[in-house]
Amino acid sequence: MFADLHLHTCFSDGTFTPEELVRTAAERGLSAIALSDHDTMAGCPRARAASIEHGLDFIPACELTVDHEGRELHVLGYGLDPEQPALAAFLACCREARHDRIREMARRLLERGVDIPADSVEALAHLESPGRPHIGQALVDSGHCTSLDEAFERFLKKGRPGWAPKWRIASAEAMTLIHRAGGLAVLAHPGLYRLDDAIPSLCEAGLDGLECYHSKHSPSAAIYYRELADRHQLLVTGGSDCHGFTKGAPLIGGVKLEWNLFDIFRQRLLPSAATPAITPHPN
Ligand code: AMP
Ligand code: FE
Ligand code: FE
Ligand code: ZN
Repeated sequence: MFADLHLHTCFSDGTFTPEELVRTAAERGLSAIALSDHDTMAGCPRARAASIEHGLDFIPACELTVDHEGRELHVLGYGLDPEQPALAAFLACCREARHDRIREMARRLLERGVDIPADSVEALAHLESPGRPHIGQALVDSGHCTSLDEAFERFLKKGRPGWAPKWRIASAEAMTLIHRAGGLAVLAHPGLYRLDDAIPSLCEAGLDGLECYHSKHSPSAAIYYRELADRHQLLVTGGSDCHGFTKGAPLIGGVKLEWNLFDIFRQRLLPSAATPAITPHPN
């Protein structure tokens, strides 16, 4: 039995609906999943219902973009209660900031003569958690680019004409928010950053775990991060970071967190009263 604890749906920048995601998880033999869309938990009720139907354990989660000592990184919040007032207010703020940013990026592109049709920008502004991948898709759909990669390369990477800064919360504040909503804070894909030196200060800020297993971690990186997790007494998690069909075949199930590690993680989640959506496991 295995878990995949890092997954996205069309509620942020994935292509699967929650139901498609859960069905695919079941087909690929997973026994537990977490839905961790960027800055939104709006897909969690549907993913939870579908998980119950398929007999999967489900953890509601969210991937937050945070600032840690001037650097951007992603923190996964697990077992969160989205109704908790401070978290609900924060997620609403994220939504507003993302919509403002979409309009700002479209404005910057237009200044350079790259015109994304106003109605597609408007459509993006109604999404739950729009971001650069959505603008990228609009650039492809309107014929300005031939692929999402080209859109990022020419227009959307930091420093390119369409890029606009993204509002981000301070790491310690994010972790306080996660804890107040009954959750655990896990550093996402540490192997994608050069910030291992920051792990002690992240621990001081309240970090609970490290995503040791990830699609972009080599086997040796995974071993390295497991040692680091042990050294700092951090929980060990893992997930594929599947975004559906955005880049070829879906990654879901490609990273399998062993059940004993999932169990340790789940044990830490369960005592928190505000964790509403974990279904009891048949065993
Ligand atoms: P944003 O949060 O709006 O800045 O967008 C960041 C998201 O863009 C990441 O979560 C990735 O899913 C996605 N992304 C980054 N680089 C690329 C790329 N070259 N092609 C497609 N998606 C990308
Ligand atoms: Fe993403
Ligand atoms: Fe991420
Ligand atoms: Zn992710």
